[in-house]
Amino acid sequence: MAEGLPPQYDPGTVERKWYAFWEEHQFFHADPASGKPPYSIVIPPPNITGILHLGHVLNNTIQDVLIRFKRMQGYETLWMPGTDHAGIATHVVVERMLAERGIDREEIGRERFVEEVWRWREQYGGTIIRQLKELGCSCDWKRERFTMDEGLSRSVLTVFIALFEKKMIYRGNRIIHWCPRCNTALSNEESVPRDEQGSLWRIRYPLADGTGGISIATTRPETMLGDVAVAVHPEDERHAHLVGKRVSLPLTDRSVPIIADAELVDQAFGTGVVKVTPAHDFNDFILGNKHDLPQIVIMDEDGTMNEAAGPAYRGLDRFECRRRVVKDLEDLGLLEGIEGHVHAVRHCQRCDSVLEPRLSRQWFLKTRPLARRLLRALEEDRIPGITPEHWEKTYRHWLENIEDWCLSRQLWWGHRIPVWYCASCGSAHAGIEAPGQCGRCGHGVLHQDEDVLDTWFSSALWPFSTMGWPERTAELRTFYPTSTLVTGHDILFFWVVRMMMMGYEFMDDRPFDDVYLTSLVRDIKGRKLSKSLGNSPDPLEVMDTYGADALRYAMMLIAPHGQDLLYSNEQVEVGRNFANKMWNAARLVLMHQKPPESGLPVSENLWDRWILSRLDRTVEQATRSLEQYAFHETALLLYDFFWHDFCDWYLEAIKQRLYDETDAASADHARRTALLVLEQTLRLFHPFMPFITEEIWQQLRPCLDDRDAEPAGIVVAPWPESRPARVRADAEEDIRYVQELIGAIRGVRADFRVHPTQEMAVHCRVADPRLIEVLSGQARAVQSLARCTLAFVDGDEARPAGCASGVLRDMEFYIPLSGLIDLEIETVRLSRERTRVEQELEKVRKRLSNGQFVQKAPADVVEKEKDKQNNYEDMIGRLNRNLEMICAG
Ligand SMILES: [Zn+2]
Ligand SMILES: [Zn+2]
Repeated sequence: MAEGLPPQYDPGTVERKWYAFWEEHQFFHADPASGKPPYSIVIPPPNITGILHLGHVLNNTIQDVLIRFKRMQGYETLWMPGTDHAGIATHVVVERMLAERGIDREEIGRERFVEEVWRWREQYGGTIIRQLKELGCSCDWKRERFTMDEGLSRSVLTVFIALFEKKMIYRGNRIIHWCPRCNTALSNEESVPRDEQGSLWRIRYPLADGTGGISIATTRPETMLGDVAVAVHPEDERHAHLVGKRVSLPLTDRSVPIIADAELVDQAFGTGVVKVTPAHDFNDFILGNKHDLPQIVIMDEDGTMNEAAGPAYRGLDRFECRRRVVKDLEDLGLLEGIEGHVHAVRHCQRCDSVLEPRLSRQWFLKTRPLARRLLRALEEDRIPGITPEHWEKTYRHWLENIEDWCLSRQLWWGHRIPVWYCASCGSAHAGIEAPGQCGRCGHGVLHQDEDVLDTWFSSALWPFSTMGWPERTAELRTFYPTSTLVTGHDILFFWVVRMMMMGYEFMDDRPFDDVYLTSLVRDIKGRKLSKSLGNSPDPLEVMDTYGADALRYAMMLIAPHGQDLLYSNEQVEVGRNFANKMWNAARLVLMHQKPPESGLPVSENLWDRWILSRLDRTVEQATRSLEQYAFHETALLLYDFFWHDFCDWYLEAIKQRLYDETDAASADHARRTALLVLEQTLRLFHPFMPFITEEIWQQLRPCLDDRDAEPAGIVVAPWPESRPARVRADAEEDIRYVQELIGAIRGVRADFRVHPTQEMAVHCRVADPRLIEVLSGQARAVQSLARCTLAFVDGDEARPAGCASGVLRDMEFYIPLSGLIDLEIETVRLSRERTRVEQELEKVRKRLSNGQFVQKAPADVVEKEKDKQNNYEDMIGRLNRNLEMICAG
C-alpha cells in the first residue's frame, strides 16, 4: 500500500497541485446561509504596488492559521481578500513610469493619467495576490475586492455624503503638513517626526521707533519673511514694556506689532520672544487666529518662495532661501548668534522629504465626536480586545488627543471628492452624481472639487464596504462584526482606530471582536530589514528553496508573543528539516499499512496507550493555545510532540513489533496506532503546513477505516477533538521511567565509548515488584532502543569488577564493561581527559579571580566564563566517578 510517497519530499510540485485542488473545490468560499457559526477576517488590503515581503508573510500566515483552524473546527469561515489603491504610492509609481516614456503627467491631463493608472493596475496590481496564493492563503478569492471598485467607491461616497450632511466634514483654511515633493497635504499620521541636529538662529528685530531692538530665536529663519507680529509673555520683565510698539521686519519693508500672549508664549524658551508666522507654523496659526492677525503665504506648493517673500527671494528653493536670509542678516549685522539645536523635523511618510506646515484650503473630518464614542465603548468594555494588551494604553491616549483628520489630497488617483461648486453663486453641493443645476441659485454650470480623498478613508470602511454596504447584505448579517483583525502595530492609528470610528458610526457596532497586532520582523542581529543593508530576503526565493510550508512554519516558530521576530534563512531550514522528518515518518508508517479491517480490539500495549495519551494532551493544549493566539507556543508544542514523542520514541519503540511475524495482533496494533496518531497530528499541523499535510493525508486516506466517510481533503477535515478518556497518567508515568532508564544506559555507552553495535547487559536491582513487571514487559523495547539486555538481580548479589553503575529513582543498575572495552586503555584515557579538563578549569578560575577582568569585561563574557567553570567542575565529577567505577572491585 501507499507506494505513493516518493523517497524525497518535493514542495514545489505538491504546493501547486493542492492549491489548485482547493480552489477547484471552492473550499475557501464562504456561504452566509450555511447556518454554521461564522468566523471572519478581513485582510489588511496590500497596496496594488505591493510585493510580498516578510512582514506580509508573518501577517498572512497568522490569518491563514486562524482561518484554517476555525474552518476545521466547523465554523463558516470568510477570509475577505482585496487590495488598496494606495493613493500617493501608486500615483508616484505611475508618474515615474510615464516619465521614463517621456510623458509628463500635467501634459496628458487628469483623465488620461487616471486611465494610465488603471492600465498599470491591470498589468501589475495582481502581483501580490498571486504571491499570497503561493504562500497558501485560503482567502475567499471569489469575493476579492479593490478599494476603487464600483461597490466600494459607492460606499466611500455614501459615507462622505452622510458625514457632509451631518456637518462632520467641513472645508477650511487650516494649517496642514505639506509635502513639497509629493505636492499634497498629509494627515498628522503621515508626517513622521524625527529628531535632527539643526540650528537655532538668534536674530535682532529693530524697533520701528529707533529706540533699540528685540531678539528672537528660530529654527527656520526663512519663515521670517512671512512674520506678521512678535509675541512676548505679558509677565516677562525683559519685554513687557515693549508691548504695543512695532518692529521693522528685516529684509522686508514691513513693520509688525509686538503683542502679548500668556498662553502661547513660553518665557523660558530661547529669548522669550516668538516671531508669529500664521501661514507656516501650527502654533502661530492658532496665535494668529486668536489675535486676528493676517496670514501671509510666502512659499509655493513645491517649496519655492513666492512673490510675498519679496523680490530678493522669489523663486528660490526654501533651503537656498534659508542660506540667503541668514547671510543677508549677517551682512546687516542683525544675526546675533547660531547654536546647535536638536529638534523634531517632520518628514513625508512616503518620500521622506522635509515637510512644510502650510496654510491651505482642505477638507477635514471632525474626529472628536467619533473618538468620544470609542472612549465610551472602552469604558463599557465593548471595544475589541487588543493582543498584546499593552497597546490599549496607547490607543486610549491617541483617542483623547485626536485632531481633525485632513481628508483631501492634491492627487488625481483616488476617490474624487463628491462635491460640486456652483460657477455662479459658489455654493457647494455633495452628491454621488453631478447635480444638474445649483440647488441654491439654479445655475447650470458646476465644477467638481479637484482633490481626492486620503487613501485611508476608503480603508476605514473596509470591514463593511467589502461586504456590500450600504446594501443590507447576507454577508453583513452573517459576518459583521468580523472575528479577528490581524495587522501590524504601525498602522494601529492609521487604520485600526479609523475602522472602529466608521464601524460604530455606520454599522452601530465594532468592526471586529479581537485585534491581534503583529510584531516587526528583524534580522538575526535585531536590525530592521532593509534593501540597503542587504538583509531583506525575498520570500518568493525563500519559498522556492525551502517550500512555503517551511517558511510558514519557521515564522510561527520564531514568533514569540509581542516580541520582534529575528529572522534568518537558517530558521527556515529548521522548517524544511521538519517537513522532511514528517515525510520520512509518514513513509515509514504507510509502508506497513494493510487494507483496513474493522473490529480491531483496543490495544493494551503500554507504548500504544502512552502515545495516545500524549496525543490527547497535545490536542487539548494546541487547541487552547491557538484560541489564545499563542502561535509560537503551538508550533513548538507540535514540534516536540511529533519529533520527540512520535518519531524518536514511539516509532523507534514499535519497529520490532511491526516486523515480528509471530505476534500479528501486536503488529496490527502498532501499525494502526501509528496511523491514527499520524493522521490526527497531520490535522493539528494543517493550519501551519497546509501543503505537505494535504499530500500525506491524501496518501493515507485509503488506509483509514471509514475512508468513504472522510472529507475530500484535510483542508475541510474536522479539527481533532480531545478525548480525556484517552489520557492515561499511569502509562505516561511508566514510559517516562523506561525513557529515563534508556537515557541512563545511552549515557554509559557514550561515557565509556562502547561501540553502538555491541550489546550491553544491564543488571537492575529493583525492590518494587510492579516496576519489575513494567520493565520486564519492556525488555524488547529497551533492547531495540538501547541495544542491551535487562536482567533483574537480588539485593545481595555481588557486583563484578569493572562495572559502570548508576541509580535511577529507587533502582540501582550496573553494566559489566570488561569484554566490551579495554579497561586499562579506558582508564588511561579517562585520566588524561581529567588532566586536560583540570587544566582548562584552572585557566577559567584564574580569569575569574582577576578582579580587573571581572570588573571590566562585559557582563555576558563574565557570565560565559562562570558557565564554563560550572561545566568543567561537572565534567571532573563525572570523570572521577567513572574512573572509580572501572577501577573498583
Ligand atoms: Zn512626499
Ligand atoms: Zn449657485
